[in-house]
Amino acid sequence: MRCPKCGSGDSRVVDSRDAVNAVRRRRLCENCGNRFTTYERVETLRPLVVKRDGTREEWNRTKLLEGVRIACTKRPISSARIEELVDEVEAQVAGSGRQEILTTEIGLAVMRRLRHLDEVAYIRFASVYLRFRDVNGFLEEVERVKRPGRPADDQLQLDL
Ligand SMILES: [Zn+2]
Repeated sequence: MRCPKCGSGDSRVVDSRDAVNAVRRRRLCENCGNRFTTYERVETLRPLVVKRDGTREEWNRTKLLEGVRIACTKRPISSARIEELVDEVEAQVAGSGRQEILTTEIGLAVMRRLRHLDEVAYIRFASVYLRFRDVNGFLEEVERVKRPGRPADDQLQLDL
């Protein structure tokens, strides 16, 4: 495992933990002292992703991670927490045993988790995935999130 900072191949594992579907390792570069994290994943079959226009593409973790990261920009959410969220969605999708999955279903699975994590990130993500037709639809969603003690999850419930 090469150090992302200096490129040296000499690193040692200082911590190892089980994450969802993966083993997370903290490594220390013997050359420059840089600490970095690696994930070891079990290769599992993922369903094909069916896009809105009906075309299909391979499951793309990086793309999903990027989408969540953008939604979480400048929010108090750690990279590790974002990775964890994507891990959970991936595990759920892989565990569904389905051959195909809609992008909207993936979006909703992410939203369900983001909702509990950060309202702003949730609204940002939702505005992309739900493709609000107009500003009213967007505001309704904002109001729904802000309403205390009434989880809107029932409307987002999905059987993945
Ligand atoms: Zn290094």
